[in-house]
Amino acid sequence: CGIIGCVGREDETLDVLVHGLSKLEYRGYDSAGVALSGDRVDVCKKSGKIEDLRGALEPRSIGGAAGIGHTRWSTHGPPTDANAHPHLDCTGDVAVVHNGIIENYQSLRDELATAGHTFKSDTDTEVVPHLVEDALADGADNEGAVREAISRLDGSYAVAVVVSGDDTIYAARNDSPLVLGIDDDSYYLASDVPAFRDFTDRVVYLADGEFATLSADGWRVSDVDGATVDKDVDTVDWDP
Ligand code: GLU
Repeated sequence: CGIIGCVGREDETLDVLVHGLSKLEYRGYDSAGVALSGDRVDVCKKSGKIEDLRGALEPRSIGGAAGIGHTRWSTHGPPTDANAHPHLDCTGDVAVVHNGIIENYQSLRDELATAGHTFKSDTDTEVVPHLVEDALADGADNEGAVREAISRLDGSYAVAVVVSGDDTIYAARNDSPLVLGIDDDSYYLASDVPAFRDFTDRVVYLADGEFATLSADGWRVSDVDGATVDKDVDTVDWDP
């Protein structure tokens, strides 16, 4: 299973995501999908191989400045198209990919369902976009809403989120790997370096509890309280 994200590549974003997913195939997976954020969030996801996702992408154009992709190794719900990531909130403006297990998802799902949210999958992950949706409805800005959602989660997660109209990727990790890739004016995010090694050799490893924002203007890592964390940028010494 794996996550890839990319900002700053404009109309190459989709190609970069699908390439990254193919480089993560070695980790094992049963489904794959992508979301790109432009004026709206566009999602394409399929059970099966990356080739099946490519086939589903061909007949339509999907575009946007910030993109996230996912290969799924099912833990909650069978490998169907509906259970493939990214998952959306009710408005369709928030898309989320996740590796790991959200241990308290059932109580969150019950709470959200009682509040009127409807769910389209069997996954633990789907609570996350709905939590972001609620925080946005309460007046939080996009970053604040994602932080609020993450603060509700127990368990293991690498999570990446895009919101319509915002060319930013929001990401967080706990007990699941996540690494940033830094180029001159494009930025990447992945479960493992091979996903973006063809584009850059500069990396920033996130630690548990850290939160990252990536946009075409730059990147920032912060702690749970929002304070900036000074991160080392390492250079990987192996060729793609
Ligand atoms: N628990 C999530 C699911 O079953 C994520 C699985 C993964 O790590 O790929 O959809």
